[in-house]
Amino acid sequence: MKGQTTAIKTVGIVGAGTMGSGIAQVCADAGGYGVLLNDVSEEFVDRGYNAVTSNLDRLVSKEKIIPDRKNEILGRISKSTRLQDMEAADLVIEAAYEDLKLKKEIFASLDKVCSRDAILASNSSSLSILDMAMATQRPDRVCGVHFMNPVPLMKGVELVKTILTSQETLDQAAAFAQSLGKASWVAKDAPGFLSTRLLMPFLLDSMKLLESGFASKEDIDACVTLSFNHPMGPLTLSDLIGLDVIYNIAEAMYRDYKDPKLAAPILLQKMVAAGQLGRKTGKGFYDYGNA
Ligand code: NAD
Repeated sequence: MKGQTTAIKTVGIVGAGTMGSGIAQVCADAGGYGVLLNDVSEEFVDRGYNAVTSNLDRLVSKEKIIPDRKNEILGRISKSTRLQDMEAADLVIEAAYEDLKLKKEIFASLDKVCSRDAILASNSSSLSILDMAMATQRPDRVCGVHFMNPVPLMKGVELVKTILTSQETLDQAAAFAQSLGKASWVAKDAPGFLSTRLLMPFLLDSMKLLESGFASKEDIDACVTLSFNHPMGPLTLSDLIGLDVIYNIAEAMYRDYKDPKLAAPILLQKMVAAGQLGRKTGKGFYDYGNA
């Protein structure tokens, strides 16, 4: 079933970056929800909103949607630079940087402005949802709703249940994912949950093979796409995710698990320090011009 669930009418999204803008698009499109897209400044909100507009323009030019549909979808998205605006949301999805301190601050503020019934969810890839929940007075209404990148294309959403998340909250989150045309699974609230725990060693290992000169980036990616039928190789995927995002996740997971498979290679550290973050900066393992 696609379309709105009865309990949720308006979705707030905090952080209008790669993920927040994709989540805004699917909520306003498949879900038919009213969307409040929030970021710290007009410049950042506009960037997210413009990303949705460009995606929809592409769909119009490929004749997948008509222009009226594009306008209908955009008409459901309101821009916001004040967290206070989230008071109108029934569900808020936090998609700010992968930084626990920042996320806890956002959750504490959301708890003050949102109605007691609202669900507060995080799109975190790896961090403790329980720590975010404990920054609020409603830990039963807090869970992870972890979308995959690129959000409009990927079919799955990982739901994360803490030991305090209520079953009702989890059921509502699953119904919400379904209303977007996505399938979901439930993961434990442990660093990296299930998806990132599987993905990280794979991505980091591909970087280590490149760093050691064992194989070229093209060969690593070709091997994975041609042998395992993945739609893209791990270095192309890393550029898509964002090398800063991967670095932060690896650092946090390594701190928790102390597993050498999760240690960030020096090559990744240096690329992040040099601002080569992948597609979003126009250069990562590959060149993307001025993307
Ligand atoms: P991003 O850097 O593209 O965007 C983050 C946005 O959050 C920025 O626009 C920033 O201005 C905004 N922000 C920061 N502090 C804020 C605040 N206090 N209030 C409002 N907005 C704020 O990051 P992203 O790649 O979209 O990742 C967002 C989250 O999603 C992270 O937790 C990340 O781990 C997770 N995630 C990322 C991917 C991916 O492939 N990039 C996939 C799944 C999950």
